[in-house]
Amino acid sequence: TRTINLKNRPTGKPGLNDFEFTSTEIPELKEGEVLLKSEYVSVDPYLRGRMSDAPSYIAPFEVGKPIESGIVAEVLESKAENFHKGDHVLGALAWKEKQVAKAKGLMKVDENMAPLSAYLGILGMTGMTAYLGLTEIGKPKAGETLLVSGAAGAVGSIVGQIGKILGLRVVGIAGTDEKIALLKSKFGFDEGINYNTTKNMSEAIGQACPDGVDVYFDNVGGEISEAVLFNINKFSRTVNCGAISQYNNTELPKSISVQPFLVKKSSSMQGFVVFDYEEKHPAAIKQLAQWLNEGKLTYTETIKEGFENIPQAFLDLFDGKNKGKMVVKL
Ligand code: NDP
Repeated sequence: TRTINLKNRPTGKPGLNDFEFTSTEIPELKEGEVLLKSEYVSVDPYLRGRMSDAPSYIAPFEVGKPIESGIVAEVLESKAENFHKGDHVLGALAWKEKQVAKAKGLMKVDENMAPLSAYLGILGMTGMTAYLGLTEIGKPKAGETLLVSGAAGAVGSIVGQIGKILGLRVVGIAGTDEKIALLKSKFGFDEGINYNTTKNMSEAIGQACPDGVDVYFDNVGGEISEAVLFNINKFSRTVNCGAISQYNNTELPKSISVQPFLVKKSSSMQGFVVFDYEEKHPAAIKQLAQWLNEGKLTYTETIKEGFENIPQAFLDLFDGKNKGKMVVKL
C-alpha cells in the first residue's frame, strides 16, 4: 500500500523533497485490530513542529517512518469488538492508503450526523481548539471586541463565529481580499483587515477596533501580533493558539518586548494546547454540534483530491492557499 514517510527534517520552509513515497506490506489482522482504508486526511500547521526534533508537547515524527495526522477511514475488515466492515472511524493514523490499526484509540463517526470530513474540522480538533481556546483562555464577554488572526483558516473562521454567537464585536485578519470578503459574508465578522495589503497594521487595527481589543485569538504570531499590542485594552486577554508565521524560522526573530504592553494594561497572554483540555472535549463537541444543527455555525473546507497530493496540501497551508479547513480526499 502507498505510504508517505518523512524523508528529511526540514530547515526553514518544508518542500516536497522532505516527503518520500514508498510501498509497504499490509500485515495480517490480529485480535483487536481493524483493516482501514483512508478516506479523508487532515493536514495541519502543527505537523510542521513534528517534522522537527525540537522538544515539544507532542513527539516528533521519525525520519524514514510514516507521517501521521487525523484521518477518517473506512473499516474494510475487523477483528475488534464493536467495529464492523463499512464503519467509518476517526483516528491519529499514518499517511497510508490502507493500514492495520488497533481499534482502541479509534472513534466511530456517523456519516448520517455530519459529512465525514467535518470530523476533521468543525466537529474535531479544529472546532475544539476554537471553542476551548476562546472560552477557557479568552473568557469573552458580550459587548467586547474580539480580534482573530488567521481568521479565514480552519480554527479562525470558527473562533469568529463563536464570538458573534456570544455577542462580541468580531474583527478578523487574513491574507487576501477574497478571504476578507468571505469573513464578512459567510462567517458574520464585523470587519476584516488584509495584512498583505495594509502598510500600518497597528493603525488599521485601531480603526477596525475603535473600542480597542479585549480578546485577541492569535493563530499567527510575529509582526501581526506585535501590531495588536498597540491596541489592547485594560484587562484584555490574548489566546496564544498558534504562531504559523514563525514555524519555518531558521533564526530567532527581532521582536519588540511585550512586557511593557501587558504591564500597562493589566493584560494577560496564555498559551493553549487543545490536548491539555481532554476532559472538556466531549462537552465542546456537543456544543459545536448543537450550534451547527441550529444553523448558528457554518464552515468552509478546501478539499484536495488524491493520496499523492497530501504533502502539497500541507505545504499550501504556509502559502495561505486554504479557506477554512484543508482536507485531502482519497
Ligand atoms: P489554517 O486553516 O488557519 O491554515 C493556515 C493559515 O495560516 C493559512 O491559510 C494562512 O492564511 C495563514 N498563514 C500562513 N502563513 C502565515 C504567515 N506567515 N503570517 C500570517 N498568516 C499566515 O490552520 P489551522 O486553523 O489548522 O491552524 C491555525 C493555527 O492554530 C496554527 O497556528 C496552528 O498551529 C494552531 N493550532 C493550534 C492548536 C492548539 O492546540 N494550540 C490546535 C490546532 C491548531 P492567510 O491567507 O490569512 O495568510
